[in-house]
Amino acid sequence: MSTRGPVLRVEDLHVWFDLPGGELHAVQGVSFELHAGERLGLVGESGCGKTTSILACIGLLPPNASVAGRVYLNDRDILEGGESTVAPHRWKDVAMVFQGAMNAFNPVKRIGDQIAEPMELHRTAKGRAARTRVVELFEMVGIAPERVDRYPHEFSGGMRQRAAIAMALACNPQVLLADEPTTALDVMVQAQILELLVQLSEELGLALVLVTHDLPVVAQTCGRAAVMYAGRMVEDGATTDLYHDPKHPYTRLLFSATPDLYAQEHIVSIPGVPPRLDRDIVGCPFQPRCDRAFAPCPTIAPPFVTVAPRHAAACHLNDVALERTQ
Ligand code: SF4
Repeated sequence: MSTRGPVLRVEDLHVWFDLPGGELHAVQGVSFELHAGERLGLVGESGCGKTTSILACIGLLPPNASVAGRVYLNDRDILEGGESTVAPHRWKDVAMVFQGAMNAFNPVKRIGDQIAEPMELHRTAKGRAARTRVVELFEMVGIAPERVDRYPHEFSGGMRQRAAIAMALACNPQVLLADEPTTALDVMVQAQILELLVQLSEELGLALVLVTHDLPVVAQTCGRAAVMYAGRMVEDGATTDLYHDPKHPYTRLLFSATPDLYAQEHIVSIPGVPPRLDRDIVGCPFQPRCDRAFAPCPTIAPPFVTVAPRHAAACHLNDVALERTQ
C-alpha cells in the first residue's frame, strides 16, 4: 500500500431509483477508500448494490437514479457538480471494464477505432499517435497488434475482454473499476484475465475495484475485500482476515457457501432471501437469515465500526458490552 493518501475515497454513498411502484434505496451509506496499486474485491449476492455503487462513482447511472455522498479522486470530490465534474474524469482518471465485453463494443466498428475513442474524447492522443497507443495497449494486454482493424465478432470471448481492458487503460487511468470481468469466460481464460489485471495493477500502480460474487476470484486477486448486503457495506478488511476471522455472520456464511475441492465439509447454503430495498428496514437487515441473531438485532441497526486495524464490520456481536447484556 502506498504511503500517500488514497487515490479514491467514497464517503457515505447513497443511490435511489425512482420506479413506477415507488423509490428503491439501492445503496445505503457505502464508504471505502483505495490507494494506488491496491486491489479491493466488492462482493455480495446479486442485487446487493455492488455494481450500482461503482456506476455511481463514475456517473453512469440511468436518469431515474439519484445519488448522494462524496467520491473523492485524490481529495477532489468528482460528484460535487454532477455530470459536469465527473465527465472530465470518466475514462481519463477512472475507467471501467464492463460485464460481458461483447456488449461493451459496437459490433459494426473496428475494435482499434473504438479503443482510440476515449483518447480522442479526452484529447490525450489522436490520429497516428492514437493508433500507436492502441498497438501499445494491445501488446500490454496480450493481443497481437495486427488485430487492430478487426471487428468484435472476430475476437474470442477472452480476447474481447482483453480488448475491453485495453480500452479502459487507453488514457492511463489511476483507478480501474471492473464489473464481473470474468463472468461467462471459461476457467482457464478467467484465470488469465485475472492474472492480467493483477499484473497491470502492479506494473502501472492502478487502484482496482473488482466487483464479483465469486469469493475465490477475490482471494486470488485482491488484498482487500468489502462485503455488501442489502445496499450496505457489512464488512471491509484484508481478504485473509475476512476468510480466517470474519466479523460478520454473513461473511462467514458466504465463505461456507463457497465450494472447496479439498475440504471435507459440506457446502452450507444461506437460508432465505435479502430484504426488499423499496421498504424501510428496521434493525439489522441480515437478522431474518442470521444464525447468531440476538435481542437487539430486530430493532437496532448495527453501526459499521472498526473492529481491528483496517478491519470494520456492522454487527452487534462485535459490541462486547451489548452482547454481554443479553
Ligand atoms: Fe446477525 Fe445481529 Fe450481527 Fe445482524 S447484528 S449479523 S442479526 S448477529
